[in-house]
Amino acid sequence: MNYLKEFVINFGNLKPGIHKYEFEIGEKFFEQFEYSLVKHGSLQVILDLEKQKETLMLFHFKINGLIVLQCDRCLDNYSFPLNTEEQLIVKLQEAPKETDDDEIIFLPVETYQIDISSYIYEYINLALPLKSVCNLGAKECNPEMLAVLEKMNTPPKADDNTDPRWEGLKGLN
Ligand SMILES: [Zn+2]
Repeated sequence: MNYLKEFVINFGNLKPGIHKYEFEIGEKFFEQFEYSLVKHGSLQVILDLEKQKETLMLFHFKINGLIVLQCDRCLDNYSFPLNTEEQLIVKLQEAPKETDDDEIIFLPVETYQIDISSYIYEYINLALPLKSVCNLGAKECNPEMLAVLEKMNTPPKADDNTDPRWEGLKGLN
């Protein structure tokens, strides 16, 4: 079964008004997106779908929970509290036009469903910290790992000036 099927919203038969949807997402969700930076987490998605007209809908997303990120500094995993809200306007039209606006999409008038999984995925990614470091979450950087990494980044001292090629020539004299 296609896991993402759950995220296809059939709006065609909805009555005007607000309709609530809830989704729990975690590992399985992120597995569907090959290049996802987030692999683990536990998030709740609340969608309020407001059907204003047959051809105009407002999708309001609230995403809350914890995701597991890797620290850019010490490479430890840590839990990051993610809380975000986004809005998407869906308009049905005879000749839908392309738009650069992230908040509105135009779809052919006969459309009756929409897969919201890629939107949820995008909203989660928009809410990620620009720089992922432990102390954004509830933990401090791992001091042992920082020490190890510092050692690795220090170039080895060039204390041996003897070039092996000259060493070899010495024997010829
Ligand atoms: Zn760290």
